[in-house]
Amino acid sequence: MAELNDGWFTEVFQDQGTAFSLKIKRKLHEEKSEFQTLEIYETETFGNLMVLDGCVMLTSRDNFLYHEMMTHPALFTHRDPKKVVIVGGGDCGTLREVLRHPGVEEAWQVEIDERVTRLSEKYFPELCESNEDPRANFFFGDGIQWMRDIEPNSVDVIIVDSTDPVGPAEGLFAVDFYRDCMMALRKGGIVVQQSESPLLHTETIIADVHKDMKKAGFDHVHTLPFPQPVYPTGWWSCTMAGKEKPLKYFREADAAERPFVTRYYNESIHKAALAQPQFMVDILGK
Ligand code: SAM
Repeated sequence: MAELNDGWFTEVFQDQGTAFSLKIKRKLHEEKSEFQTLEIYETETFGNLMVLDGCVMLTSRDNFLYHEMMTHPALFTHRDPKKVVIVGGGDCGTLREVLRHPGVEEAWQVEIDERVTRLSEKYFPELCESNEDPRANFFFGDGIQWMRDIEPNSVDVIIVDSTDPVGPAEGLFAVDFYRDCMMALRKGGIVVQQSESPLLHTETIIADVHKDMKKAGFDHVHTLPFPQPVYPTGWWSCTMAGKEKPLKYFREADAAERPFVTRYYNESIHKAALAQPQFMVDILGK
């Protein structure tokens, strides 16, 4: 639920008894697409803000935390990622990070709502700066169906950069979808999914993601927490699952010598993100 009051945008988390606010300068855009209500604001201190169905998706100022952590740990854990599929991710920020890896030959962004991408091109052009890269491919449609139809053994890394597990994204947090990911992945393949707040969701969504990924045949599942100031509790996570490889081994030397600039991710952050807070160990196991 979102409110606008005296120049403040507020996302209210009724069930948590909390809220998050940003001081806004003006509303830049609002529309209803076939799938959701899209709003864009200019804020006083966080740049532009994208809101989908009343939920904060990203701001210009802090999206690098999320996009870098959704991408680089998985791509540096895979031995040699050549084909990467992003499910959701319509703002194109994850696609941009994926294409920073020179070894990637082909990347697909499978986003259900084309309007998210079109508005990002206008209001977040920096996130879309790799959209013309010849390796970038776009499909606008349901990622669940797309994953069902994809050729088996054809993808190295799948990044599920989705909205919360309600509405069209609900089926992206499900054992059937993970089975389709399992089929789609080549040997050594990795899937990584945005998995909500460690503080709020370890016992529920994150535990279910672990259980369902394991049911789908992924032997190695690990959740990486990272800061994300504009999301509920300011603390977020992604959950990585590997077909064969223990996820604590990554290409550390390649990460240290990465041929591109990052603002949050580096090899030390990667190792730190693999460490589990004790309450997560207690709930998820080692
Ligand atoms: N960083 C955000 C977060 O954690 O809340 C996610 C941002 S990204 C804009 C999420 C995208 O997932 C949205 O643009 C939404 O349209 C897309 N999406 C939701 N369900 C989908 C589905 N079934 N297939 C493809 N894209 C989907």
